Amino acid sequence: MKAAVWHGIGDVRLDEVPEPTVQEPTDAVVRITTSAICGTDLHFIRGTMPGMAEGRVLGHEAVGVVEEVGAGVRNLVPGTRVVIGSTISCGSCPPCRRADYSQCDVANPHGPLAGSAFFGGPQATGPFDGLQAEYARIPFANVIAVPVPEQVTDEQAVTISDIFPTAWFGAELAGVQPGSVVAVFGLGPVGQFAVVSALLQGAARVLAVDAHPSRLAAARRLGAEVIDFSREDPVQALVELTGGAGPDCVIDCVGVESERPKSGPAAEALADQVEQLDAARDQTVPESNVQQTPRGELWRPGDAPSLASQWAVQAVRKAGTIGVVGVYPPQFATYPFGAAFNKNLTIRTGNCPHRRYVPDLLRMVASGAVDPSVVISQDEPLSDVISAYEAFDRREEGWVKTTLTPGL
Ligand SMILES: [Zn+2]
Ligand SMILES: [Zn+2]
Repeated sequence: MKAAVWHGIGDVRLDEVPEPTVQEPTDAVVRITTSAICGTDLHFIRGTMPGMAEGRVLGHEAVGVVEEVGAGVRNLVPGTRVVIGSTISCGSCPPCRRADYSQCDVANPHGPLAGSAFFGGPQATGPFDGLQAEYARIPFANVIAVPVPEQVTDEQAVTISDIFPTAWFGAELAGVQPGSVVAVFGLGPVGQFAVVSALLQGAARVLAVDAHPSRLAAARRLGAEVIDFSREDPVQALVELTGGAGPDCVIDCVGVESERPKSGPAAEALADQVEQLDAARDQTVPESNVQQTPRGELWRPGDAPSLASQWAVQAVRKAGTIGVVGVYPPQFATYPFGAAFNKNLTIRTGNCPHRRYVPDLLRMVASGAVDPSVVISQDEPLSDVISAYEAFDRREEGWVKTTLTPGL
């Protein structure tokens, strides 16, 4: 079968690989009908999330049809259309029973303290082959493969694999309440859904920060007030637009691949911090493989790993709350803790426990309350996955979220 395979930092290929089989009683094999590319996949190719092994099938977002189940899967039969939650969770251990599915004691073969297990990730996360493929083995399929209601399309359901639950979790972490004024940093796909989630959770206003015109425009269409950090200082703008206090809640959807502003007052304000930013980047990204191509650079890691966290801490109101769902790798150790301490901030963070949210979000989409497919900007055949990765890596205008269709 065809699959997107990680070969090295800066080296992803479309390969022919063996089809997966049922190995454990709680496994299913799923024929993928729609997959998607995520910013997290770029971290592996740019080198910001280290520890990948050559040959790993990438991808952790998919919808598909069950082909085969093990003897321990009693709730699914071949032919069932399912959405697959990105983190792998057993459903039986104490953390899973508290709905802390991304801290499952059982799913990661390296043991209960080894961290979240998920598809298509570094060795330490399992490893488990990913979902940008024609077929996938789904461990604990009875728990993490959730049937999709008939009226929910593949395109809608694939957003519930990862990005919509992650954003919803981010809004919960940030303590969004009815009436809250919320800032969202980073308007990639998770940031777009953070705007949606904050509004659905009762936010009165959502202020959305990015520097890419198409992402700002998309967030505005979803109801956000937008701030372009290449034109104005985002901290100053957030404070001014909130009566001098700052937002109550910040959802950090950027994480470690934060970018320096290229122009405007925020760029000027950072002019004397270039050495610090360079040092933080080199410490956070020990190895990268930036390539020059006729269409521009490829696989360049974000050049300001702690900038989104600094802005979040500076902008949020005193005693406010920051929810962090943008990915930070284990080696990242430069969060502005002292500044947060002195503002009495609450900071909540972590890998999304996807399974906690998948059923409710499916019901919400089935009811028509929200149409998550508006965030999808491209649908490409799996055979074009490499050029899709390159366009997404370059943040080409209009490439917000790409779905992949195998078999085309
Ligand atoms: Zn993802
Ligand atoms: Zn578990």
